[in-house]
Amino acid sequence: MPVDMCGSFELTSKDIDRQISFVTPGNYVLGSRYQKNDKFYFEVCYVGRADQDLNKKLKKHIGHYDRFMYSTAATAEEAFIKQCRNYHDFMDKLDNIFHPVKPFTANWQCPFCDRMPVLIFMASWLEKTMINKPNNSLVK
Ligand SMILES: [Zn+2]
Repeated sequence: MPVDMCGSFELTSKDIDRQISFVTPGNYVLGSRYQKNDKFYFEVCYVGRADQDLNKKLKKHIGHYDRFMYSTAATAEEAFIKQCRNYHDFMDKLDNIFHPVKPFTANWQCPFCDRMPVLIFMASWLEKTMINKPNNSLVK
C-alpha cells in the first residue's frame, strides 16, 4: 500500500526544516526504517495531518518516532481525505487510537468508512482533550 509521500527522513528539527520550509497543510506518517535483504522498508506506526502548518505539527512528534514521510496538500480537506485513506490502509498496525478527525466546523466525510458523524464528533473531542496534555498519550 503506497502512502504517496516523500521520504523517509529523520524526525529532527533540522530535517523537518530542510524538507518543509514554508507553511502548508499536509500529511505525514511516522515510524521507523528497517533493512531486509539489502532493501530498506518503512514501518508505518502513525498517520497524521496538518490543516495549516505541516512543519510545526511534525515537530510536536520529535522524540516519539525515528523517522517521517510527508506530502503537502492544497487544502486541509484534501489532507483529511488522504489521512483517512492512510488510516484505513494501515489501521491494524497503527498507534492512532482514533479515526482521523475533522475540525468542528467542517462538514467533510471520510469516503472510506460509514461511521456515524456523531462518533467522529466524539473522537474529535477526545483527541483534542488528549492532545492538549503535555505528555501526549496518543504516541508511544
Ligand atoms: Zn473512515
